[in-house]
Amino acid sequence: MMGMDDMIVFKFGGASVQDAEAVRNLATILHNNGDTRKVVVVSAMNKTTNKLESVVNAFVSNGDWKTPLNEVFDFHKKVLIDLLQSDTNDAGQSLEKVKHYAFTFLEQDEGSDVNFIYDQIVALGEILSTKIISSFLSNAGIDVIWADARKLIQTDNTYRDARVDWKHTTEKIQEYWQGNAPHSIVTQGFIGGGEHQRMTTLGREGSDFSAAIFAYALDAKSVTIWKDVPGMLNADPKLFTNTSLLPNISYREAIELSYYGASVIHPKTIKPLENKNIPLHVKSFLEPTEPGTIINDNTSEDSKIPSYIFKTNQVLLSISSRDFSFIVEEHMSEIFACFARHKLKIQTMQNSAISLSVSVSDQRSQIEALIEELQKDYQVLYNDGLELLTIRHYNEKIVEELVQGKEVMLQQKTRHTMRLLMRA
Ligand code: ASP
Ligand code: MG
Repeated sequence: MMGMDDMIVFKFGGASVQDAEAVRNLATILHNNGDTRKVVVVSAMNKTTNKLESVVNAFVSNGDWKTPLNEVFDFHKKVLIDLLQSDTNDAGQSLEKVKHYAFTFLEQDEGSDVNFIYDQIVALGEILSTKIISSFLSNAGIDVIWADARKLIQTDNTYRDARVDWKHTTEKIQEYWQGNAPHSIVTQGFIGGGEHQRMTTLGREGSDFSAAIFAYALDAKSVTIWKDVPGMLNADPKLFTNTSLLPNISYREAIELSYYGASVIHPKTIKPLENKNIPLHVKSFLEPTEPGTIINDNTSEDSKIPSYIFKTNQVLLSISSRDFSFIVEEHMSEIFACFARHKLKIQTMQNSAISLSVSVSDQRSQIEALIEELQKDYQVLYNDGLELLTIRHYNEKIVEELVQGKEVMLQQKTRHTMRLLMRA
């Protein structure tokens, strides 16, 4: 396929646009990378998405949703005034329009599906942030236009977890990009346009995925995700001391790490980039000249540094036959279907002759419903309050240190990965 000239994608998350100061820093980063035409994908400012979720929760439980909703708009107005010394500009008018839409939408709603309401309200965080940021950038002499991701990223109407229609999305993005040369564009992460002009969202933290979609459609030269950490680290610095930066990992390794629960990049981000061999940089917006992490097709560095992924609140279920009969394939497919029905994601599993052990994250009401169903045919025992540690590229010495003083309930070892389900 023909490349769309040299273009790159930058993605800025909520922390990188948390206030006026942060937006000025974003402008400096764009200014210093001014040579290449870009798609700049931006998340909602700071914790706006959580705040809008609380608006929706209050609304559906007949609570006070107006106070948090007003707070969202007051916050954005303050940032706008700090950046542009006025709110009577285009961005100010957009803010008023979005505010009017949000209040009218909720006041007139007559009991719609909660996921639908969620997307119509929560998606607004990204509209607000990008309106303010693109105005500020234009004002600062950076050549950008505001693009509406709802008209570009085409999805189905699976609210809160919308599926991308890749063919139409690619066409729309390419057409828009060619039609608006030579400007760079500022657009929203996380949101898309569903059927009948409905707003949809791609799942929490989905802006990384949006960046990958734009990169895929435009054959980008690279994607950079700007974060408040120096890059991908080998463990969560909130849980481990002495973390180290992973300078270069492969797509495969990045997918594995995010599957096991490393939370630096959204799991759906890697596939579109891998498919077109587009390198992904993860860099710090606080130290933009540091190299950060590069994720590409090079596998040679993958096993150099062990990575640790820690999950608390795990439950181990032991499912066994009541009459000492073997647990065979037919039972397993029945049991797995039951987990799928209750939307419980299996973390680890192991089987013996008459029992199957499965661990999941503790989602209490779903687990209770699952047990109730399974108990018709099986005996089910469970242990809760466990922690799951996954170590990629482990060595025995490290493992020994990490399990000290803990009771190991289940252990799994493959060539590259060790998983330990433990009680502290
Ligand atoms: N604003 C959305 C969220 O916080 C999407 C994102 O930040 O990636 O989940
Ligand atoms: Mg965010």
